[in-house]
Amino acid sequence: MTHQILILGGTAEARQIATALVERGDCAVTLSLAGRTQNPAGQGVPVRIGGFGGAGGLADYLRQHAVELLIDATHPYAARISANAAEAATRAGVPILALRRPGWERTEGDRWTEVADVDAAVTTLGAAPRHVFLALGRQEVHAFETAPQHRYVVRSVDPVEPPLALPYVETILARGPFETADELALLERHRIDAVVSKNSGGSATYGKIAAARALGVEVVMVRRPPLPGVPSAPTVHELVAMIAHRLGPVADRGV
Ligand code: NAP
Repeated sequence: MTHQILILGGTAEARQIATALVERGDCAVTLSLAGRTQNPAGQGVPVRIGGFGGAGGLADYLRQHAVELLIDATHPYAARISANAAEAATRAGVPILALRRPGWERTEGDRWTEVADVDAAVTTLGAAPRHVFLALGRQEVHAFETAPQHRYVVRSVDPVEPPLALPYVETILARGPFETADELALLERHRIDAVVSKNSGGSATYGKIAAARALGVEVVMVRRPPLPGVPSAPTVHELVAMIAHRLGPVADRGV
């Protein structure tokens, strides 16, 4: 028997979960991406791209494709799709499991200012000109156009569209992971005195947090949005084990 599984992705972990399930040999996996990046990294499994049209659209998709298990492996700040996933799973009567990557914990030497959202991050930078590293999604950086007094370094996978209407902005196009040593060099080169970051968790983007700590640089940390309480695991390994438990042993294919 082949298990039909839909993975909501957009993260490296979603790709890893998909690969682990394909390797079982008894899962037909589809990975769903929002379509935010122009050239997403190779996923290694069938991919569908674009929104479903809210929770109702996702519920329809689950029914139409006879999905047996829904996996939410989206980014911790992608709150809308996670909420839609929980609701669609209920509506379609399909079980859901989620990857809930733990956030980073503040440690000795960190200078974090935690804020509720990106608008609060803009205000927190203050009136005096600063050198700011924006390590946010390209959808969020336009909020900083209301604070043109600062010099910005903006890093994103694809160019910010439309370009930022700011007098001092340098853009860096890059896809993680990012090493601490490189992040240190970047902060020093641009004389950064504030990093604006999401609390993404994981190791791939932690380098800038470690670098800021080493240099005594303030991190304006945008708090995580609330996510629905569905059964979850904190790591790929644990989530794959949870999925395996639910699917049961791999069927003997007689080969
Ligand atoms: P979102 O706000 O939760 O989702 C907005 C809409 O996009 C959803 O309602 C859904 O449209 C569609 N969507 C999102 N993920 C999808 C998926 N995997 N498959 C199909 N449709 C999907 O999520 P977001 O706009 O992608 O991102 C929100 C925040 O998360 C941003 O802060 C972004 O920077 C961050 N993020 C970061 C990463 C990363 O660093 N790897 C990746 C993704 C997101 P419908 O309602 O039409 O179905």
